[in-house]
Amino acid sequence: MINFEYAQPRTEAEAVEFLQSHGGQTAVLAGGTDLFNLLRSDLIAPKRVVDIKRIDSLKGIQQVSDGLLIGAATTLDEILASPLLSPYHSLRQIADAHHSMQIQAMGTVGGDLCHLPNCWYFRNGYGLLGTVNGESLAADGRNQFHAIFGNRGPAMFVSASRFAPALIAWGAKVRLVGPAPDQVELMPLEYFYVNPKTDKQSVTVLQPGQFVTHVWLPAVEPTSPVEQLSAAYEVLQLEGLDWPLASAAVTLGVSAGIVREAQVVLGHVAPTPWVSLDAATVLMGREVTVELAESAAEAAVAHATPLSENDYKVSIARAAVKRAILKAVDMLNV
Ligand SMILES: Cc1cc2nc3c(=O)[nH]c(=O)nc-3n(C[C@H](O)[C@H](O)[C@H](O)COP(=O)(O)OP(=O)(O)OC[C@H]3O[C@@H](n4cnc5c(N)ncnc54)[C@H](O)[C@@H]3O)c2cc1C
Repeated sequence: MINFEYAQPRTEAEAVEFLQSHGGQTAVLAGGTDLFNLLRSDLIAPKRVVDIKRIDSLKGIQQVSDGLLIGAATTLDEILASPLLSPYHSLRQIADAHHSMQIQAMGTVGGDLCHLPNCWYFRNGYGLLGTVNGESLAADGRNQFHAIFGNRGPAMFVSASRFAPALIAWGAKVRLVGPAPDQVELMPLEYFYVNPKTDKQSVTVLQPGQFVTHVWLPAVEPTSPVEQLSAAYEVLQLEGLDWPLASAAVTLGVSAGIVREAQVVLGHVAPTPWVSLDAATVLMGREVTVELAESAAEAAVAHATPLSENDYKVSIARAAVKRAILKAVDMLNV
């Protein structure tokens, strides 16, 4: 590991200032559960690490006029404990599914959203795109955990975030500050992610000197005639701490038993969270039944492009979508 400076700002403005120095060769430290792995393996070599955990405005969950603001430094434990999040079932299900007291205590929402890929070629020093002489190692190599969508190149890794699919299905936005001192941006989370075309790009739109401060969630109106239902279904190999092979998150607006609004987002199947408009279209205007959930799941994977060793992920993704839909309407009996 190379030497680096350590900075501990107390405000968002101070954090931007610290992140901008050294020509932006800096890194944000939140819970550190992955950042320290990246530093130890020399996969990143920042000149300065900026610890955002002492910035009060980034901690916890607060109600605002049109919804909720979740601070980027909010831990998974805080997500689980917050009564404000009780209507957002899919988010609590994901925080709970981590099955690790240590990660739940230390890991943060911002760290999850900005997590770099777990692709073994990247983690072994072959760059974000996992290439040698411009040739992708995953294309003809060990690609059983790689993408089945959005993999026409050059990126073939899968997005690591577990919260992003569920947050996108809820219509969440992400608040960014920097790189200019007074620059603040609120963008739909869906547009935050990038399918990189070169090693110069990363997995998000974040520029050097810019970081995530909050996630905004729309309000859930308990008296609305359209009931907001949601669920996430992740398929993991292990009962304990593990990365999903594929996941799906759905949010449904239902009135009189009929689906009036639908969002279906898959995770761990593409270099970005993967929104399935096809699956949502199947659900619209219909009553959820097992057959309808199966049709939506089929539509979600109809255009998958599996690699040489990961055809099995198509079946898993299909099952995850079907089960997330049934779980949202409380019809999942497994
Ligand atoms: C041994 C080990 C195994 C793990 N295995 C799993 C697993 O199997 N499944 C699983 O889901 N999780 C796993 N995790 C947890 C994983 O690291 C989490 O996803 C966690 O939520 C990351 O949050 P963090 O706050 O610790 O992030 P950090 O490690 O602090 O940061 C992660 C990345 O995000 C960037 N970042 C953090 N916050 C921001 C921000 N606000 N703005 C911009 N960039 C930011 C950092 O610079 C870094 O690149 C594991 C962790 C460890 C230590």
